[in-house]
Amino acid sequence: MTEDWTKTTCPYCGVGCGVLASAGPSCTTAKVKGDPDHPANFGRLCSKGAALGETLSLDERLLWPQIGARRASWNDALDNVADNLQRTVDQYGPDSVAMYVSGQLLTEDYYVANKFMKGFLGTPNIDTNSRLCMSSSVAGHKRAFGSDTVPGVYEDLECADLVVLVGSNLAWCHPVLYQRLASAKEQRGTKVVVVDPRVTATCAIADLHLSIKPGTDVILFNGLLAHLHSTGAINLPFIDNATTGWDSAISMAQTLSFDDVLSKTELGREQVSTFFSWFEKTERTVTVYSQGVNQSSSGTDKVNSIINCHLATGRIGCPGMGPFSVTGQPNAMGGREVGGLANMLAAHMELDNPEHRRIVSDFWGVPSVPDRPGLKAVELFQAINEGRIKAVWIIATNPVDSLPDANTARVALSKCPYVVVSDVTANTDTAEFAHVLLPATAWGEKDGTVTNSERRISRQRAFLSAPGETKPDWWQVSEVAKRCGFADAFAYRGPRDIFVEYASMTGAENGGSRDLDVSPLSNISLQQYDDLKPFQWPLTSYRKSPRFFGDGQFFTNSRRAAFVALEYREPASRLSEQFPFVLNTGRIRDQWHTMTRTAKTARLLTHIAEPFVEVNPSDASRLGLTPASLARLRTQFGEMIARVSVTDRQRVGSVFVPMHWTEQFSSSGRVGPLVAPNVDPLSGQPESKFGAVAVELFKASWYGFAVTLEKPELKNFDYAARSKAGGGYRIEFAYESLETNWESQASAILACGRSATAELQTYSDNAKNQHRFAIFADGRCEGLLFVARQPVAVSRSWAVEQLGETIAPEQRISLLAGSAGKGAQDRGSIVCACFGVGLNDIVREITERDCKSVSEVGDRLQAGTNCGSCKAEIGKIIDKHQLEQAL
Ligand code: SF4
Repeated sequence: MTEDWTKTTCPYCGVGCGVLASAGPSCTTAKVKGDPDHPANFGRLCSKGAALGETLSLDERLLWPQIGARRASWNDALDNVADNLQRTVDQYGPDSVAMYVSGQLLTEDYYVANKFMKGFLGTPNIDTNSRLCMSSSVAGHKRAFGSDTVPGVYEDLECADLVVLVGSNLAWCHPVLYQRLASAKEQRGTKVVVVDPRVTATCAIADLHLSIKPGTDVILFNGLLAHLHSTGAINLPFIDNATTGWDSAISMAQTLSFDDVLSKTELGREQVSTFFSWFEKTERTVTVYSQGVNQSSSGTDKVNSIINCHLATGRIGCPGMGPFSVTGQPNAMGGREVGGLANMLAAHMELDNPEHRRIVSDFWGVPSVPDRPGLKAVELFQAINEGRIKAVWIIATNPVDSLPDANTARVALSKCPYVVVSDVTANTDTAEFAHVLLPATAWGEKDGTVTNSERRISRQRAFLSAPGETKPDWWQVSEVAKRCGFADAFAYRGPRDIFVEYASMTGAENGGSRDLDVSPLSNISLQQYDDLKPFQWPLTSYRKSPRFFGDGQFFTNSRRAAFVALEYREPASRLSEQFPFVLNTGRIRDQWHTMTRTAKTARLLTHIAEPFVEVNPSDASRLGLTPASLARLRTQFGEMIARVSVTDRQRVGSVFVPMHWTEQFSSSGRVGPLVAPNVDPLSGQPESKFGAVAVELFKASWYGFAVTLEKPELKNFDYAARSKAGGGYRIEFAYESLETNWESQASAILACGRSATAELQTYSDNAKNQHRFAIFADGRCEGLLFVARQPVAVSRSWAVEQLGETIAPEQRISLLAGSAGKGAQDRGSIVCACFGVGLNDIVREITERDCKSVSEVGDRLQAGTNCGSCKAEIGKIIDKHQLEQAL
């Protein structure tokens, strides 16, 4: 039987990889592989994309509408939402309502939400979690180019001779793009410079790593601008003919000497000289930047400091040249295109441009659209907290975890008179505050388009039927709009109707005056929409190149690009005696956002299963932190507890924590509450990469680790982190108190007695203060528990593999010993999540079979041969063992 493959797009990062998906018989699993024809990935997928088929179960899904905690009909739920929004508008005015949406939405969902709020309810108060991700790039683009335009295409990374990655851990955050760059480097020797305070996985392909003092990027790029000027590397004809503001930008850059640049960035002379010299001499240079640049109180300035250097050299809009913002979310770009940010209109038109407002209001047939910007994400939740916003509709996002000062966001929602949450997941930390919950269709069930970081629009297609009573987000908003009296404007039959309206809007009175134009698609049929192949915008006769600005024509009034004179501003958070460390936050390789999807598969939790904090060894020793101990992190705004990773990848004085964990997975691993609500004044983007934090040892009296078939509770411990593992769960936990009756605790944790035949076996070494428990039912291992005064040293992957296994009585003692036992092999911690290859597997290949390279390990074990995100770690393991052998 031939398989029925649907071409769709990955719902995770901004690379926008094409996916082929084939539903399994139960429609809760699917086979997934990379689409070889998709120009973003040419068949590659990363670990997250490759595991998409394992995340489709209906566990945790929200399947029907709820009012209060009660199941409701769609009709009642939609009436309730429409009545409450309308009543709030009538009583307090349109700006008393708001929507907070997401870069996870499809362009069609986003377009309808924006049209409803800005066109019909009459408020600009619709903002998106993309504000937290890339709004500084939007502001920087608009300041320099007069439009939010990404000039380049992915191919530029492959035909550049120098790629500078600034604040971008491409290997973990945009893995397929990283693989494209790594392959290009192998083939043509591309030089790669990484500018990042941390040594990240991306440094594996770096010829030069600049471990810059956090927040000082503007100084480095001002220094580079001055260097380019002093060495005559600037492109004077381009500056004269295509730009404004050069004199003031270079004058400002020249106020710092080279020595000032070194001392303020804390970089070495040799390193900076090399970087400047490579940039000066390499015509084909691309500078890629991401959240490390954007998530800053001077994010927009950082973006412009990079763009300044490309404008000065005229290296923009040509093959292998240009500044390149890569977005975190799958449809951050689509959201920008349809006005998903509170300060933008649809089709890349501007809220503060009267002509654009007229075009939009004429197009929608409304008297006007708001002439003021709406509340940006952080302001929006502050307004809820202050009672200015009285009704909010949150769609496809989890602000109680992801916003800065997240505890205040939680308080705000708890007192907001009316909260609607549309989501695919029933139990998010945000859903708890909903007066009305609306069940949304998820990836695989919904239909529409997304735009990736290189302006490529691709279809996301449904290959599963919608479960329960779930409905697409565009439908939910349209139905509420109809009930508010706007039936004609929201009479969409499906996403194609919305797409053609949006496409037509991009051409309205455009004539090449605006960058975004897909109007040739404004009359496509349903069949043509269904068949739409990935394409890049613009689609007009005005532009022949897939790149922008190679012709020296920009979208400012003068049609020239603007240099921006930039003065360095320090990060908004100040280090102090009380809060002496820099707090940096970010993504990990195998998780996505607040884990609502990626934590559904145990495979993606084998690499990292617990919130952690990376600390430099010298700081760790000063603080009494040892590897695998626990640390409490505290800022002015909140605190968290995380597992300690002592590593010299981290700068002295800085710590790094992942952004993903919520209260669904860890008792105290949310990082959002720690992040200060400091924002960039232009973009409104929060400074998630620089906080002031105190770090101290969490004084655990007992550390524990368990694997169980039953889902363990988090609330029984002073610290706990739970994840799916094998056919059950794994939990890491700790207690502060000394007094613990381990026998009864073990029964509670391992759910002893659940089965009548269950028997608990115990082992205690009182001298060493170690206790171990195993529970068996019908000879099958149903759980293991290890507790000790120190962090438990048991192979997690081995323990997980024992779950559900039939264990002969004579082998049970080795289980309690926490070892693999005679003849059995312990894989060690998982390095390659795609193929489940552990550290010990790789070490065996190196030490026993003389494997010398990453590709040899790949040939033997498959590790690193799928997404390739673990290649850097494999390389490090090889280096370490070769060094040990040489000593
Ligand atoms: Fe999805 Fe990975 Fe591709 Fe990003 S790189 S779109 S997460 S498969």
